[in-house]
Order: sequence, then C-alpha cells, then structure tokens
Amino acid sequence: MKAAVFLDRDGTIIEDVGYLARIERLALFPWSVDAIRALNHAGLPVVVITNQSGVARKYFAERFVHETHRALDDLLAPGGARIDAYYYCPHHPDGKLPEYSRLCDCRKPGRALVDRACADLGLDPARSFVVGDTWRDVGLARAVGARAVMVRTGAGAIEEQRPPAGLAADAVVDNLAAAASWILMNPLNPLNPQSAIRDPQC
Ligand SMILES: [Mg+2]
Ligand SMILES: [Zn+2]
Repeated sequence: MKAAVFLDRDGTIIEDVGYLARIERLALFPWSVDAIRALNHAGLPVVVITNQSGVARKYFAERFVHETHRALDDLLAPGGARIDAYYYCPHHPDGKLPEYSRLCDCRKPGRALVDRACADLGLDPARSFVVGDTWRDVGLARAVGARAVMVRTGAGAIEEQRPPAGLAADAVVDNLAAAASWILMNPLNPLNPQSAIRDPQC
C-alpha cells in the first residue's frame, strides 16, 4: 500500500473563482505544473479530492466536472505533470436537484472519496498527505490519519486566521509548490533518504 498526495482542486491547484462553471475561468496557479511534476517524479500518486456542490446547486452538470478535469489534464501535460485520479462529491444537503441533495459521506471533511481512492489505487491514507486551502481539507486529513498541509492560496490566508477548535494543520505554507517541498522533505515520504518507513513497493 502506497503513500499518496490528495490534493484539493479549487484554491489549491487552480484559482478559486467561486463556482467554476465555465471552462474559460479555469486558471492554474503559476507553480502548479512544477509542483505536481515534482510529486510525480517522486513516485507519489497525485489524487484530486474535490467538493463540487455546484452540481447539487444546479450551477453545472457532472459532465462539466469531467470536462474541467480533462481541461486541467491538458494544461498540466505539456509541463510533464499528471493527476493520477480525480474524485469529486457532487452533493449538498441544501442543493436544488433532489438526486444530489442529501447528507453524504463523500463531501469533505467526510472520508468516503479518500477511501474509494485508496481501494481503487492501493493507497495507504495513514502514510499519505492532504493538501488544501480550507479547514475542511485539514479535517479530511485528520479523518483518514494523513498529514495535513494547508496552503495560503484560495481561501487559505483567511482560513489560517480562524482555526476551528481542536483542528490544526501539520504545516501551513504559502502555496502548492511549498507544500510539495514540505511533503518531499517529510520523513514519512518513502522516497526521502531519511524516511522512517521502508517499503520495497515504493
Ligand atoms: Mg479549496
Ligand atoms: Zn457526496
């Protein structure tokens, strides 16, 4: 079972534009390609875990979420960067579309998407990392026993100022590039020469 990096999407890899409902608004942060490629080269699977309640709210359809992820792949590929898999939650308890409007266990900080990714890809959440710009992402990390890295992009700079009681990140850093560095230097990274973990599969 491998360590992985679970990345939030909006505000972490790409600009947070509220609800991304038009592909023209998709904008990578300038460092995202390099950061993701560095994780790829380290042999860490990179998995996007994203709440997309815009589906339940009827701002966009599920097929648009897939279209967005294909467009994101197309932006990353020329720079040699790759997302290994995408998982999204289309639900919200107060949505407009009845089929998506419910309490679910896949909306972050719920852990169901990470559990699904781990089952699909053979990942070990307890040796993995979650990177995101909100306390929901940190909550997800805590729920699955992963390390939590909060970035100050997106909502992060504001979120950092108002930590919920009982929740703390393992690191708060400026952006995804700094998060990737922190992960690659972390003793839990199986490829770090100082790794505390020895796993021939990695
Ligand atoms: Mg976010
Ligand atoms: Zn859900």
